[in-house]
Amino acid sequence: MQMTPTDDQLPPCMFCGQDERVELFEIWSDHRFMTQTCCETLHDSVVHEMTDDPDWARTLLRRIGADLYTGHTLRRLADDGGCGMLLDWQLRICPVTFAVARQFVDRHHAHCRAPRCWRFGVAVRNGTTLIGVAMIGNPVARGFAGRGIVEVNRLCVRRDIPAALRWNAASMLLGQAARTAEQRGWSRIITYTRVDEAGTSLIASGWKREAVVRGRGWHGGARSRSNRNAFVDKIRWGKELHPPRQAARCPVTSQAPMDRTSLAFATPFALTGQPQAVPLGLF
Ligand SMILES: [Zn+2]
Repeated sequence: MQMTPTDDQLPPCMFCGQDERVELFEIWSDHRFMTQTCCETLHDSVVHEMTDDPDWARTLLRRIGADLYTGHTLRRLADDGGCGMLLDWQLRICPVTFAVARQFVDRHHAHCRAPRCWRFGVAVRNGTTLIGVAMIGNPVARGFAGRGIVEVNRLCVRRDIPAALRWNAASMLLGQAARTAEQRGWSRIITYTRVDEAGTSLIASGWKREAVVRGRGWHGGARSRSNRNAFVDKIRWGKELHPPRQAARCPVTSQAPMDRTSLAFATPFALTGQPQAVPLGLF
């Protein structure tokens, strides 16, 4: 399919009479974008059409090079919660260092700080934006130690971005955590949610609800620990895994070199090549 019509295929704009042009002028990594058109009236018309018909908007943006310029695949156009629209990319699972995961959880988790160590972690991005991380380590309950079990100690998805951008992120993280644990030799994976959390993502990822665990405080003895979150009853969820026989489990690690990867986003993508114009009448 020809994506870039030549100039002589462009029909005249019904508003200004020039060649009808809609081009991607700029795309930022915080999901905003700007289009350029032959005239203001067409611009208003395109914006109105995009708001009215997200499927049409996605097709248009793909044709004028949104995927091509960024290397990401457009999932849909998302409402930014105000009066603008955002580019919502297909979520991608990606590796994450301990330092970045810990920093992310400390910053974004609703009620817990990051654990001090892990076996491994997984992350999910929407475009270049880090949307969520899962930190997987040893089970906190001592009764589960030495039984081929790992625990998703933290699952954290950003809440400070429009909901559309994080859609399905938790399920993807849970799915990848279980797959990685299985590949690395564990036979079971567990996690806990508070009783006031729905567990929708866990159910969607095939985890089974196993037990309700009573919350309790940890103060006592010589060590003083944070009681934040401790008194809330929890639900334990689990999933049976079928690891390959020769899988090598990764060790517990805690001190990774500080990773300076920025969690912020607002750097512009480099737009390479010439903007592409398409006749709107094509679709
Ligand atoms: Zn025009």
